[in-house]
Amino acid sequence: MTHSPVWHPFTQHGLGDPVPLVTHAEGAVLHTEDRRRVVDAISSWWVTTHGHCHPRIMAAIADQAQRLDQMIFAGWTHQPAEDLARELCRILPEELTRVFFSDSGSTAVEVALKMALGFWTHRGEGRSRIVVMEHSYHGDTIGAMSVGARGVFNAAYAPMLFDVGRVPFPGNDPQPTLDALEAECAGGAAAFIVEPLVLGAGGMLMYPPEVLAEMRAICARHGTLFIADEVMTAWGRTGTLTACEQADVVPDIMCLSKGLTGGAMPLAVTMASEPIWDAHYSTDRTRTFYHSSSYTANPVACAAANANLAIWREEPVLERIAALAAKQQAHLDTLADHAMVRNARRCGTIAALELGDPGGSYLSDLGPKLLRRFREADLLLRPLGNTVYVMPPYCIEDDDLARIWAEIGTAADAIAAD
Ligand SMILES: *Cc1c(COP(=O)(O)O)cnc(C)c1O
Repeated sequence: MTHSPVWHPFTQHGLGDPVPLVTHAEGAVLHTEDRRRVVDAISSWWVTTHGHCHPRIMAAIADQAQRLDQMIFAGWTHQPAEDLARELCRILPEELTRVFFSDSGSTAVEVALKMALGFWTHRGEGRSRIVVMEHSYHGDTIGAMSVGARGVFNAAYAPMLFDVGRVPFPGNDPQPTLDALEAECAGGAAAFIVEPLVLGAGGMLMYPPEVLAEMRAICARHGTLFIADEVMTAWGRTGTLTACEQADVVPDIMCLSKGLTGGAMPLAVTMASEPIWDAHYSTDRTRTFYHSSSYTANPVACAAANANLAIWREEPVLERIAALAAKQQAHLDTLADHAMVRNARRCGTIAALELGDPGGSYLSDLGPKLLRRFREADLLLRPLGNTVYVMPPYCIEDDDLARIWAEIGTAADAIAAD
């Protein structure tokens, strides 16, 4: 294959790195055209939960595809969406009573922000300031970028991004975070959006449930809406169905996507509490929630999500997750004392560490070097800078998991020898 017109996401084509062609997948393994067996150590960018081509999800997709492929969702409905919305309301906190569908994590965030602003506008209060956490990531559309960390990924688009309040990431001492949030909320912030427990794209940064609970309480005291972006953290990634659950936190708005369909189809929901709905509910058409995309609540995607929820209901998913978490910890422990490893940490099934000498000047190109090394070792691992993390599908086989960690160890040794 000499020339492809495909422009890939987050890919600098000028560097000339090979773009492997994957023909099929099962479980935690991708198979390439040149017959390589690649272990998917990052769940294909955090979406695949029970494994690729899961038979129950594939069967649900095939079945739905025979009956209803796609239809308008404005003023019309279908059974897969009705079933999914009811089941989400049943398994998530009872305060989250309303389900708005979209098709990606970014759009789920855009919807959450629009709901929050709509809430304040329709109540006749002029709150509009959004508060975010340093190092956050909420997606790549304009609104989602605006509430995310600023940096090389969005510097070119800065003129289009709106201004937000920022609170520091809670490090060893969470007080500055809580104080900054308190000040923003007391100043009348409309909403605070945050990734609960783990900041994914920001570098798998982890903070404890107690801090999440305190942040939620501060928002509640001042009426600032609390938006939990669970796009990466939900569906068992952090050890529980949602990360909020570990802090007994019920947000006003929750964004879900990635593992919602088990990672098989693009689908997202923004769950809202009754006051958000009430602010829009009226005979006045100007209060309508004016948001839609063509494929809102695509029936086939909803069927995939219903199959995912059936797996959660009927199979010991949390036990599988706990077992994987324990294995991840054991592997992490073997590397924690390595001279080139720092900040070994874990939350649920997500394990992360920083590689390299903290004083090293080569850190800037360590990320691409690691990416190449892992690709050549038939591993799908995509370090965030010098942060290496392992977030596999829950069905990964022990040998494959061991191979991932052995290769990370080899990489650490190679850096030490450099
Ligand atoms: C991936 C991610 C998003 C964006 O989801 P897309 O489906 O890629 O648009 C938003 N928030 C968080 C926390 C994410 O990890």
